[in-house]
Amino acid sequence: MNKLHIIAATAVITLATACTHSKPLTATTPETVTEYSEGVWHNNSPHPRNIIFVVGDGMGTTQVYASIVAHHDGSQFLRFPFTGFSRTYSNNKYTTDSGAGGTALMTGHKVNNRAISQAPDGTDLPSFFTTLKEHKGKATGFVVTCSVVDATPATTYGHTPDRSMKDTLSMQMAQCSHDVMIGADKKQFLPEGRKDAARPIDTLLQRGYTMIYNLQDLKKCNNDKICALLSADDEPGDANQRNYWLVDGTKKAVEILNKHPQGFALMVEGSQIDWGGHNNDTALLFSELDEFEKTLKVVLDFAEKDGNTLVVVTADHETGGLVLTDGDIKAGRNECRFVTTNHSGVMVPVFAYGPGAERFTGIQQNTDIYKKIINLMGMK
Ligand SMILES: [Zn+2]
Repeated sequence: MNKLHIIAATAVITLATACTHSKPLTATTPETVTEYSEGVWHNNSPHPRNIIFVVGDGMGTTQVYASIVAHHDGSQFLRFPFTGFSRTYSNNKYTTDSGAGGTALMTGHKVNNRAISQAPDGTDLPSFFTTLKEHKGKATGFVVTCSVVDATPATTYGHTPDRSMKDTLSMQMAQCSHDVMIGADKKQFLPEGRKDAARPIDTLLQRGYTMIYNLQDLKKCNNDKICALLSADDEPGDANQRNYWLVDGTKKAVEILNKHPQGFALMVEGSQIDWGGHNNDTALLFSELDEFEKTLKVVLDFAEKDGNTLVVVTADHETGGLVLTDGDIKAGRNECRFVTTNHSGVMVPVFAYGPGAERFTGIQQNTDIYKKIINLMGMK
């Protein structure tokens, strides 16, 4: 709330100052917004140094509003001065899956459902993480609460025609250029969890990654190149069972990546918001949203202090067709109903904070989000 007031006040002051210099200003042009944003996120460069891209898998507008009600004025979503919507349909379906949804956000291309950063003709599509590492020397990484070879994280580093090709995706991950990788599914990197007898874990070790297998070791770790596989299999339990690892994992990832002289690009995913929707499980949904809120606090506190970090939060799609029928605002209680155990085709919200945040307003294609990010980071 405070932040919104500060921005509004800054806008008025800047507009008033500008008027005395008779400089024509309209409050809707990106230039103007950047100008009045200057006092808020001190961006003296047209390009933010860092990007933190936060995905709530399956997090539609109703999930966000339910979280706002549950967290009252403490909801982190209220800290974003710029909001928009994203159209999520894929190349071949009205309702996308996380493969095509993640691919659209990470590579700027609408592909067929189930594909991982690969066009229908088989062409591999680079993610903005790969591009920013290659051309801008950024450090990169991801933190998720599902398997590290699940669709959303895989779209940042892998390329397959189908998301189920987990043996291939884990081999690709072991060869990828991320500096920090945090999530679930150690088994997938050892023969016991694979159809072949390969040991991608050895490739990661040979390539200099410090392998970490629990949250305590992750918190203590000081290395610059890490792969943390925090649960044996691909179902690491809910937020409480995981000890809210998205919060501490994000803190650690930012700490490591921020040491990099060229800045960084980090993807953070609240992966199981989607599972709450699929299972029509309100308790799971709300504990995942609570972890997501606490993670957003880490991200926004860092961005606020840093002043040169763009934060974009969105979803790949909505899951469960959640409807809020009633509730109690004072008590922070929502009455929820799901209309499907699958994804729905509705627009999902986009929240932005930091240099360039004003570009993410309006109704945009999911692929536009990629284009805006890559553009703001100084690429075409
Ligand atoms: Zn899903």
